[in-house]
Amino acid sequence: MDKKNNFMSEDIDRVIGKDAQRNNILAAKLVSEVVKTTLGPRGMDKMLVSPLNEIIVTNDGVTILSEMQIEHPAAKMMVEIAKTQEKEVGDGTTTSVMIAGKLLENAEKLLDKKIHPTVIVKGYRMAQEKVHEILNDISFKIARENEEALKEIAMTAMTGKGAEEEKEKFSELLVEAVGMIEENGKIEKENIKIEKIVGEGIKDTKLFKGIIIGKEKISKDMPQKVNGAKILVVDFPIELKSPDIETKISISSHNELQNFLNEEEKMIKGMVEKIRETGANVIFCQKGIDDFAKYLLSKAGIYACRRVSRSDIEKISKSTGARIISNLNEIGPEGIGEAGVLEEVKTSGEYLTYLKECKNPKSVTILVHGGTIHVVDEVERALLDGIGDIASSLETGLVVAGGGAVEMEIAKRLRDFGRTLEGREQLAVEEYANALEFIPLTLAENAGMDPIDVLTELKSKHDAGEINAGLNLFTNKVENVFNSRIIEPTKIKSQAINSATDVATMILRIDDVILSKPNKKGRMNDLGSLPDYMNGLS
Ligand code: ADP
Ligand code: MG
Repeated sequence: MDKKNNFMSEDIDRVIGKDAQRNNILAAKLVSEVVKTTLGPRGMDKMLVSPLNEIIVTNDGVTILSEMQIEHPAAKMMVEIAKTQEKEVGDGTTTSVMIAGKLLENAEKLLDKKIHPTVIVKGYRMAQEKVHEILNDISFKIARENEEALKEIAMTAMTGKGAEEEKEKFSELLVEAVGMIEENGKIEKENIKIEKIVGEGIKDTKLFKGIIIGKEKISKDMPQKVNGAKILVVDFPIELKSPDIETKISISSHNELQNFLNEEEKMIKGMVEKIRETGANVIFCQKGIDDFAKYLLSKAGIYACRRVSRSDIEKISKSTGARIISNLNEIGPEGIGEAGVLEEVKTSGEYLTYLKECKNPKSVTILVHGGTIHVVDEVERALLDGIGDIASSLETGLVVAGGGAVEMEIAKRLRDFGRTLEGREQLAVEEYANALEFIPLTLAENAGMDPIDVLTELKSKHDAGEINAGLNLFTNKVENVFNSRIIEPTKIKSQAINSATDVATMILRIDDVILSKPNKKGRMNDLGSLPDYMNGLS
């Protein structure tokens, strides 16, 4: 198994040829097995517990894989698929990982038949190209004004997730939010801020035109509302003893101490004076603001928040036009941002800062309510799926039928295509088609239905020309799911196909794994670097 070349250091583990391939395929399969049970509206959730005992309960493929601390190199490549999918589309992460896992599993069957990996790779690439053609052919165009369809797409994305019970309301809210930030057909998803608050129910989730920062003013003497806010944003502390810098002073007399304190007061005063001179009446600070500065700021009537997160600092900057200032010397009136109204509002027992009528009108916030932090986190993930799907649908204007319909139709047409091929690539195309059927099969399995029965029925309907026959998991029936409004953006599928094929072919091409710095147990052989609970899975 484990071969070492004499020209290599003793500290290097090497797995070559068939062993390397099988080992990588096994790892990829295990990753796909882990997320499989979460697929679809009837998928189950997973509870992830970090080494620090932080808990995440989720159904979201990319979240599960990102949190799992996977070390096996091939398994890590699988996790990257989910991340790419998340970045490019914002949904479909489970699907993409499952397809990649199945492509590899099926490739193994071909390897067993002594078909060379390069032939498999070639066949998979031919299939990939064909899939795009087919997708183009079976997609439907939706008009951008068709809000009803956009809502249905968002609902399909959120079915079975944390946001399920309010999905109708949420879909409306998301379509509205995306509409607000759209500019000449371009959608910058980052313009939708999600602010989470524990308290009240999911149904109290609201859309706010403007941004909400989860921070209160630092002194009750500061104004509660500022009309015509002039906003300064800084990422340095307004204090002298920054906790990051350790200073050592030696003081030998009472006078010296007094002088030192006076000096310090003078400097703080100078800082606040500079802030005041810019004409700002609001300051957001990424770091700390000390008590004396707080006192001076409130005396000057300035609304101040401290320890604002970096991402919020960036959001404020983007929406109000404020420059993020990193150095006291750069403070000046030019960097000031603007908002019509800034107000501290008590929401579910917490004080938050609301900014309305921002300079950039394209900023909106969804304020997510929920009973516990785990609930709001999972609702956030579901909303992000919905936003991603609406945005992708608007970008390309193309959608397909979900519920496994699109995968079944592609599989059918791929088989037809395979039959036209001469060489052994034909077998690879066939296995590619089989891999896609893993999606409807799993949707059925996760819903407790008989997967073979469902697949057989689906196949016969597609053979009879019903291209939108899929599994409707509201009714547990195989039917025209496009008519049942289970629709998804085409882009989810095309992206999933691309990243799954890329990773599968890349892994197939590897016949040599050279691992430096192994631990003593030899981690390539026992897969010991996968989390323990994955070992029993295959
Ligand atoms: P992913 O991370 O891949 O998006 P999901 O858990 O969100 O995984 O499941 C998506 C799959 O569920 C898609 O294939 C989609 O068509 C399917 N789906 C969504 N709603 C329904 C439904 N009501 N009936 C059947 N399938 C559905
Ligand atoms: Mg999804």
